[in-house]
Amino acid sequence: MLYLDHAATSWPKPPSVIKAITEALDSAGGNPGRGSHALADTAARCLTNCRISLARLLKVSAPERVVFTSGTTEGVNMVLKGTITQGQTVASSSMEHNAVMRPLTSLGRDRGVELRTVSADAEGYLNLDELAEVVEAVDALVVCHASNVTGTLQDLPRIAEIVARSKRRPWFVVDGAQTVGLVPIDLEELGIDALVFSGHKALLGPMGTGAVALGPRLAEHVRPWLEGGTGSRSEQLEQPQELPERLESGTPNTPGIAGLAAAVEYVERVGLDEIASIERERIGQLWERIEGTEGIELYGPPPGKPRTGVLSFNVSGQHPADVAAALDGAFEVACRAGLHCAPMAHRTIGTFPTGTVRLSVGHLTTEEEIEQAAEAVCSVTEMGE
Ligand code: PLP
Repeated sequence: MLYLDHAATSWPKPPSVIKAITEALDSAGGNPGRGSHALADTAARCLTNCRISLARLLKVSAPERVVFTSGTTEGVNMVLKGTITQGQTVASSSMEHNAVMRPLTSLGRDRGVELRTVSADAEGYLNLDELAEVVEAVDALVVCHASNVTGTLQDLPRIAEIVARSKRRPWFVVDGAQTVGLVPIDLEELGIDALVFSGHKALLGPMGTGAVALGPRLAEHVRPWLEGGTGSRSEQLEQPQELPERLESGTPNTPGIAGLAAAVEYVERVGLDEIASIERERIGQLWERIEGTEGIELYGPPPGKPRTGVLSFNVSGQHPADVAAALDGAFEVACRAGLHCAPMAHRTIGTFPTGTVRLSVGHLTTEEEIEQAAEAVCSVTEMGE
């Protein structure tokens, strides 16, 4: 099987990640912070190690500002529902995932929050003049660093500069689902208030893991959206105010977090720049190989522009789901078809409501595999004629 669905979740995971998960189930089998014995202490150390590793990766000076979640979806809900109050205004972009759009829509309904949308061009790049205007009129800005539909990588330093220079200084929230582990991000230098991400995509960690890295400003402010046992201050019925306990209630996913720590070490060892450059090369090869094939339309930025290893395309006269089924059935190419949970992005690139076929590479994808995938795509195109 040729796995080209890394944007959904990376696979296979590094052996060190699998080993760390297995070892944690064995030697860190206690409940962290909730037992006075070695197994609980080892579990607590797993959490601390991972927090420190993520803080190092994302340049967060206080590891307690790294809050574990089950992924980007939980992180976005935590940040937005814990921060945005009745009648505030929030801007996002026309490239957002439903992990952002659905919580924002419900805040619109339940808290009268007004939503503004920054438009993007046909390749998915945000209109930064429009963004500069919008930030002066909103309480928060949420932007997706890289699109899971087109691979478009936004100019985060430029966006950060616009936010930092604005008079209004709205909360700056970044959906890093497709970039943490791939693109170096310095949270404090960029003035990001919340960087939300999953562990199972570019970071190469297990599913059900992720975190929110909070900047010092928002760390003071964000209220818990989930309350419960933290293993600390058990005498009080109010949620503790300290981080990370304020935002982390209930027994954590210790084996997953141990795997995530190993994943951070792995991507640091291989090097983020190295991983990103391999993925860009592979997707460039794929683009060039299938571009110009009759009946194929490619979307998103061409090679050479800022992008990740995601490529969306369509075959004229064929439904994306049929193309994906043929790629899987006849050629064992695993990919994804449809809207990829990002209907707004498809409206932007003109592929709503049927969507696209999406191929997404990992750093272990080889040139031969790309050639194989390209041949499969061309054969499927001919099958439809
Ligand atoms: N945001 C983007 C841009 C994504 O690509 C995804 C997942 O595909 C998410 C958010 C949601 O991530 P998760 O399902 O891990 O919570």
